[in-house]
This record gives sequence, structure tokens and C-alpha cells, in this order.
Amino acid sequence: MPATVAVVRCDTYDESTVYDAVGRGLDLLGGASRFVHDVERILLKPNLLVGATPDKVVNTHPAVFSAVARHLAETGATLSWGDSPGFGNALAAARKVGIAQVAEALGVTYADFADGRQVSFPEGELIKQFVIASAVLDADGLVTLPKLKTHALTRMTGAVKNQFGCVPGMLKGEFHMRMPDVDRFAQMLVDLNRLIRPRLAVMDGVIGMEGNGPRGGDPRHVGVIMMSEDLVALDAAACRVMNLDPALVGTITYGERWNLGSATDIEFVGDDIDGFVVADYNANRSRQATTDSGKPKGTLAKRLVVPRPVIDPAKCTACGTCVAVCPVTPRAVDWANGKGVPPVHDYAKCIRCYCCQELCPERAIDVQVPALGRLLHRK
Ligand code: SF4
Ligand code: SF4
Repeated sequence: MPATVAVVRCDTYDESTVYDAVGRGLDLLGGASRFVHDVERILLKPNLLVGATPDKVVNTHPAVFSAVARHLAETGATLSWGDSPGFGNALAAARKVGIAQVAEALGVTYADFADGRQVSFPEGELIKQFVIASAVLDADGLVTLPKLKTHALTRMTGAVKNQFGCVPGMLKGEFHMRMPDVDRFAQMLVDLNRLIRPRLAVMDGVIGMEGNGPRGGDPRHVGVIMMSEDLVALDAAACRVMNLDPALVGTITYGERWNLGSATDIEFVGDDIDGFVVADYNANRSRQATTDSGKPKGTLAKRLVVPRPVIDPAKCTACGTCVAVCPVTPRAVDWANGKGVPPVHDYAKCIRCYCCQELCPERAIDVQVPALGRLLHRK
């Protein structure tokens, strides 16, 4: 049986337009009651990276959150929401985004992801044990609300990657340390999703992010909401819209290989997906890996060839976020020239997790390929 992805045009974040679009998508998939039942506790997981207003397109738009919550509430299910952002407090971030206010108005309760429990996962291909937020484990099911965005490490952030937020707080940094190679990081994410098994994913692609994502990129109108119970198929659909080869996205290739979903056997229902393809979507289509092998012998190559985070001193406010989130000990970006001036990267220590680039509030960190890497790649 092919995976089904519903594709629905939605050109604005006008609340009733989004509500109708989400309703149409759910109907195309057989109705909300196919995924959620009246006696169940369902957790909504938006993409809540940081506190940023919706015009920055960093997070799932509150209108999409609202529409999904309203449709699922009609089934009689009890709804909660939660996330563990990369930096700072989830509720404070959600208030800035507008999701907290929408949730309060709809009676969707906040579930704190700060505490987690260890879960054994013998079926894991790579990871046999995870610590997952208790709120996720205590829910009957999870509905995930990814945002269509580019990502420096994984090239795109979508349905599968959105579950990384189910790992509480700073434990996420440990995974970056244990899996500095992007392929292994993607494998971990696939195992995480094989464990959590979200019921449904609804992707906010009304205005996506291109370029220096997942935080510092630019808005790009796409005008689509897509949804599926198959998260790999949904991410493959997102790649098609971004004109990005899905073979470059590890969560898709390993997701298909490890039976999380299908990237190749997809039935599209609703509007014609080819009508949403943005041929010049600014995404990383280079065949060059975003990290090295993660092995010690890769260190020199990493320094000379592999893309790296670079601070623009003209934009940097010396806020220290990058220093605080760097998972490497001792830190690979630090106050080498003292506080009050831009921090300095040590590329020999840097594992290329791009957490600093992801969370810089000033969009002051870009990912750049060193000159030798550009030369080699040209061949
Ligand atoms: S997070 Fe960005 S603005 Fe803050 S110190 Fe680092 S580079 Fe500068
Ligand atoms: S400097 Fe940035 S990319 Fe390098 S390890 Fe630290 S957070 Fe990751």
C-alpha cells in the first residue's frame, strides 16, 4: 500500500482559511477520527525552536496549531501540547510565538517536557535506549506539527526531525556529541520516531524558511499545508516542494530503509503537488556532506574541507547563546578574546552540529564551506 500525503493549498495564515485547509486535508485522509479517538489524551508537538514572532517563520504558525487543535478537539479527545526548545523555556517561547495564547483559549493544556524517563528500545537499529519527555510517554498518542524549513546539519527540518524536541533539554546536546556524523544523527532520529510513532504529521508550509535555516533563514511563500500518517513520505513531499533530492536527507533514506515509512511509494491526494514546487528554493543541494565521518582521522579533513559555522562580527551582539549551547567540552566556540566581543570558533574541536548557528538570535552565524572544500567539490 502506498503512503498517502494530503496536499492542500493555503496561501495565508488567516485563521478561518487555515482551519478550512486543515479540515480539507484531514477529510482527504479519512477524517480526524482515523487518528484520534474520543477517550484519548493526545499531545500536540509544534516545532518550537525559540521564542520568535510568527513573521520570522522559525516556528509552527499559531494559526496552524489552532486549526489542528480545533479539528482534533471535535473528536472529543483531550489535548495537551509541549516541546523542548533548543534554548530557554518552552512556555515563554510559546508565548512569544503566540501558541501559548491559542492553546489557553482552546483549553489545550501545557505539558512540560523538562522531566524525562528512560525507555528501553531493543528494536532500535542504532539506539537501544532513549530518555523521552514524560509528557510524551504519558500521552496516548502524538500529533506532530513540523514547519517546512532548511537546516544546516540535516538540510531540511521536517516531520521526522520534529521529534528531537521529545528529548528533554540539554540531553539533546549529548546526542550531538555521541553522533557527530550526520548519517548517524539521522539514524538516531529515525529510531526515535520508530519508538514514539506519531499518529499524524501536519506540516506548515504556508510560508517556509529557506537559506540559513532553521533559525536564521528567510521566509519563502509556498502556500501549502501537507499532512500524512507516514512521516517519511511527508518529508519526501517537502523535499519535492523545495526541489531538494530526498537522497540527501538522512532521515528520509534511513527512514525508508528501516521501515519508518516510504519515500518512493506515495499517493498524493488533494491539490497537485507539482503546483507548489519552488524550483529556486534556497536549500543546500551540494553533494558534499555537512559533517565528516566523525572518526578521529577525519579531524584534519573536517578543519580544511567540511562546512563550518562562521560568525559575522558586524551582526554579533556578544550575547553568549552560542557559547552556552555548544555541547563540546571544552567548548568549541568560546570567549577567546574576552566577553563583550564576538566569541571565537575552534574548528579543531568543533563537531559541526551547528547548534550555535541554529540558535544565534541575531542570525550572525552562517555555515560556510572552506576554500579547499569549495575547490574539491567543484571537481
Ligand atoms: S549567539 Fe550569535 S550574537 Fe550571540 S554571541 Fe554567538 S554569534 Fe554573537
Ligand atoms: S561550535 Fe557550534 S557547530 Fe561547533 S560544536 Fe559547538 S555548537 Fe556545534
